[in-house]
Amino acid sequence: KEELNIIQGALELRTKVVEDVLTPLGDCFMLRSGAVLDFSTVSEILRSGYTRIPVYEGDDRANIVDILFVKDLAFVDPDDCTPLQTVTRFYHRPLHCVFNDTRLDAVLEEFKKAGKSHLAIVQRVNNEGEGDPFYEVMGIVTLEDIIEEIIKSE
Ligand code: ATP
Ligand code: ATP
Repeated sequence: KEELNIIQGALELRTKVVEDVLTPLGDCFMLRSGAVLDFSTVSEILRSGYTRIPVYEGDDRANIVDILFVKDLAFVDPDDCTPLQTVTRFYHRPLHCVFNDTRLDAVLEEFKKAGKSHLAIVQRVNNEGEGDPFYEVMGIVTLEDIIEEIIKSE
């Protein structure tokens, strides 16, 4: 029964962690911080269909420095070729991070807090290898990913 599946899904939030549901970095639609909001870039953003777009600096996609909301483009005229940074500096959307091993019920609580964006950057502590441990970005997780765990029916 559908209801049982949903209850089961809700209960499983306590046994699943962010890493089980994240969207890996390689699958993320992102923008370089140096991008220019010309017609082709804005078209690409709209075609992607996503409403929140991580922005990275340099060549390393793990180096996420901002989030662009598509609604932040409302006053942008593609003919002006506005630098993306002009927009991200104006809105300055906060970046939220969670660790890969955070339980989904805890992430859901975070997302429910007022004023929080429904997207978080997922990082893990990499302590493989010789050097000091460091934080490594694995991908992104959104409220939608958690809701999907609850309502998915099999
Ligand atoms: P909204 O539903 O608020 O319009 P959206 O459709 O952009 O937002 P979500 O509904 O939050 O995105 O997420 C849907 C799926 O897409 C989730 O699996 C999420 O991890 C993934 N996702 C969200 N943003 C991106 C992105 N920029 N690149 C790749 N995948 C993304
Ligand atoms: P997003 O979070 O994707 O940016 P949003 O903030 O516009 O979208 P939701 O998060 O979907 O909207 O909804 C937040 C609350 O605002 C919900 O209670 C929803 O019913 C309400 N809401 C959404 N759109 C409108 C609207 N046009 N007028 C009044 N209430 C709205």
